[in-house]
Amino acid sequence: MKITEILKNATETKVSFEILPPLKGKSIQSLFNILDPLMEFNPPFIDVTYHREDFIYKLMPSGYYEKVAIRKRPGTVGICAAIMNKYNVEAVPHLICGGFTVEETEDALIELNYLGVQNVLALRGDARKFEKNFVAEIGGHKYASDMVKQMSDMNEGNYLDKEISNAVKTDFCIGVAGYPEKHFEATSYRKDLTYLKQKIDGGGDYIVTQMFFDNKKFLDFVKDCREIGITVPIIPGLKPLTRKSQLSSIPSTFYIDIPEALESEMEKCKTPEAEKQLGIEWCISQSKELLKAGIPCLHYYTMSDVKMVSEIVKNVL
Ligand code: FAD
Repeated sequence: MKITEILKNATETKVSFEILPPLKGKSIQSLFNILDPLMEFNPPFIDVTYHREDFIYKLMPSGYYEKVAIRKRPGTVGICAAIMNKYNVEAVPHLICGGFTVEETEDALIELNYLGVQNVLALRGDARKFEKNFVAEIGGHKYASDMVKQMSDMNEGNYLDKEISNAVKTDFCIGVAGYPEKHFEATSYRKDLTYLKQKIDGGGDYIVTQMFFDNKKFLDFVKDCREIGITVPIIPGLKPLTRKSQLSSIPSTFYIDIPEALESEMEKCKTPEAEKQLGIEWCISQSKELLKAGIPCLHYYTMSDVKMVSEIVKNVL
C-alpha cells in the first residue's frame, strides 16, 4: 500500500522506523533482531537507508597506498524485499542520485517495481568524504527533483528509451526529504522551501523531515509549506540524543540546533546512563506534543538502537 493511502486511512497516529542495512559481512538475522521488537508497535512501513560507496586509502603489500572503493552497508533493495516478505509491512528503500547514472536509476526502479515495492524515498545524497561538494555522476541526476521527475515519468509509462511502446506504467508513491531548519547548502530557508515545492510539483507525494529537537521548528515548517501551496503529508523525523558529545556533533553534521533547555540539562548529566535517559525523555515529550497536534505518523531514526526507540514508543502510544 502507498504511504499516502496508509496516512489517509489512519484513524490514529502511526509510528514508523528508519533502519540501516547491516554492516557488510553481517547476516540478515542481525537486522531481524532489530526489527522483531519493533513489530509490536505495528509500524505500517519501515524505511531502509541507502549507503553509497566511499573511498579509503589502503596500504598495499608494495608499501604504496591504493585508493579502494568500499560500500560498508550494501543490500538496501534485498533488505526491503526481505522485510516485506517476513513482516508483511511496507518497506521504503531510499534511492540516491549520487553514484547512479539515469539509466542505472531506471534499472533500480524497474527492479523495485518487479519486487512489488511501491514506495521510494528519492534523495540526492551527500558529498563523499573526499569531496567538498556533492558531485553528480556523469549522466546522473544533480538534484532529488530530477529523480522525482524520472519516477513520475515512469508512472506515466515514459522510460528513457523513447522507442519502447506501450511501456508498463509504474505506480510509485514518491517520498522526498524536507528540512525544518533548512538544508545546509541552501542559500536561505525560503529558497530551500522553493526547491522542496519543486520536488512536490514534480511528483513528490509526501515529505519526511530531517530530525529536529524543537517542535516549534517543525510546526512552523509545516505552516510555511502550507502557505506556499505544499499540501502533501509531512512526516516528522525524530531521533533521541544518546550522549553528551552529540551536543556538538549533531549540529555540525546535520546543521540543526539543539534547544538551550536540552543542552543545559545534558550538561548536568554525570553518567552515560543519565545522558541516554535525558535523550529518551526529551524525545518522549517531543513525540507526545506532536501526537497532540494530530500528526498522523511519527517516524523514528533507530540508528540500530532499538532498545532506546522501543522505550520511547512504549511511552508515547
Ligand atoms: P535536494 O532536494 O536535491 O537538495 C539538495 C540541495 O540543493 C538543497 O540545498 C536544495 O535547497 C538545493 N537545490 C535543490 N534543487 C535545486 C535546484 N534546482 N537548483 C539549485 N539548488 C537546488 N542520504 C543518503 O546518502 N542515504 C540515505 O538513505 C538518506 N536518507 C535520508 C532520509 C531523510 C529523511 C533525510 C532528511 C535525509 C537523508 N539523507 C540520506 C541525506 C540526504 O541525502 C542529504 O541531506 C542531501 O544532502 C540532500 O538530499 P535531498 O534529497 O534533500 O537533496
